Amino acid sequence: MQVPALYLKRGEDTRLRAGHLWVFSNEVDVQRSPLSGFEPGQVCAIVDSRDKPIGVGYVNPNSLICARLVSRGLEHALDKSLIVHRLKVALAMRERLYGEPYYRLVFGESDGLPGLTVDRFGDVIVAQTTTAGMERLKDEITEAVAKVIKPRQLWWKNDASIRTMENLPSYADLGLGEPASEPLIVREAGLEFECDPVGGQKTGWFYDQRGNRDCLEHLVKGKRVLDMFSYLGGWGLRAAAYGASEVVCVDASQPAVDAIARNIERNGFSDRVSAVRADAFDHLKTLREQRERFDVVILDPPAFVKRKKDLAEGRVAYRRLNELGMQVLERDGILITCSCSYHMPRTVLLDGVQQGARHLDRQAQLLWNLQQGPDHPIHPAIAETEYLKGFVLRILPA
Ligand code: SAH
Repeated sequence: MQVPALYLKRGEDTRLRAGHLWVFSNEVDVQRSPLSGFEPGQVCAIVDSRDKPIGVGYVNPNSLICARLVSRGLEHALDKSLIVHRLKVALAMRERLYGEPYYRLVFGESDGLPGLTVDRFGDVIVAQTTTAGMERLKDEITEAVAKVIKPRQLWWKNDASIRTMENLPSYADLGLGEPASEPLIVREAGLEFECDPVGGQKTGWFYDQRGNRDCLEHLVKGKRVLDMFSYLGGWGLRAAAYGASEVVCVDASQPAVDAIARNIERNGFSDRVSAVRADAFDHLKTLREQRERFDVVILDPPAFVKRKKDLAEGRVAYRRLNELGMQVLERDGILITCSCSYHMPRTVLLDGVQQGARHLDRQAQLLWNLQQGPDHPIHPAIAETEYLKGFVLRILPA
C-alpha cells in the first residue's frame, strides 16, 4: 500500500497494541516522520520504532491527537470497501438489538470508525465527522452508506464544537437525496417524535437514553412527573405513555418547546403533558417557591463539564441541580439524574446527590445505575467512549 509512514517513538506502540486507537503528537518520532510533512486528514501507516507496522490510520498534524488507527495490519486500504465492511458489522448488531431502524448505527472508535457518528432514522441518515481524516473521507462514507442502507436522505450535521480542535468548519447540509417538506420522525417504544436534522441538538435525537427511559415503565403510573432539560420530550412522553397522570416538560430552547408541543399533539397526550420554556435552575426555584411537588423528577442536562479543568465548577452545578430537583420531590419520590460529561466521574455525581440529600435531611436509595445504550458501545481500551452515567434513586425522608 502506497501511504506514508508515521513512525512512533520507542515504546509508544504499547497503548495501540493494547487496543487503543489514538496517537498523541508527543509519541511520534518526528525525526523520521515530521508531522509537518502530513496534510490534515492524510491516510498513513502507523509504524513502531522497530519498523513493525501497527496498521492504517489517518493524521492531523495540527491536533493533539495527531493520528487515529482505523485498521490493524496493512492489508486493508482506508477506502469505501473498508467503510462498507465496518457499516455492515455495526448494522448486524443494531438489527439484532432493535425491532425498528431507529438507532445510532456508528459510534466512532467503538465501531472501528474513529471520528464518525452515524444515526439512523428509518430511511434518513444523519452523520457527523469530528476529525479531518473522516472529513476527507466524506465521499467514500456517503457511497458506503448508500450501498449498505440505501437511504432516502443523508444529512451531514457537521457543527459539533469539537470540530474546531481539528480546524474543521461548522455546517449542516444534505449530502444525499432530495430535501423533503415533511418533518423527520424518530420512533421510540411506539411513540413518534418530530426532530430536525439541521437545527436540532447534536444529530437530532438522544438515542443513548432510550433504554434508560424504559425504566419509567415501573415508576410513573398515576404519578406526577417533571422532565427537566426535556429537549423534544423523550422522557416526558415516554412517562405519559406508561400512564403518568401529569407530565411537565421544561427546556430553555424555544424550538425544542415548540417541537414538544407538536409531539404531545402527535401522540395524543394533550390532556396530560405540557411544555414550558424556562431556564431549569430558575424554574426549579419557582416550583419550589410555589410548593409544587412531583413523584418523579428527571434531570437530563447538557454536559456541564466539557473540559477536565471545568470539573470543580461542574460538580457544584450538578450538586445544585440535584438538590433543587429533590426540593420539588414528594416525601417518597423518584429522582432520575444523569450526566453526559465524560469528565464527570460516576462516583462524583453520586456523591453530589448524596451530599444534597443529607443537606436536605433526606435519605437516598440507589435503585438502578444507568449508562448509554448498546448502540453506543463502550470500547474497553478507550475510556472516552464511556460518557453517559445516571442513577434512578428513591428519595425518602431521613
Ligand atoms: N433529555 C433530553 C436530552 C437533553 S439535551 C432527551 O432525553 O432527549 C439538553 C437539553 O437541555 C437541550 O434541549 C437544551 O436546550 C436544554 N438546556 C440547556 N441548558 C438549559 C437550561 N439552563 N435550562 C433548561 N434547559 C436547558
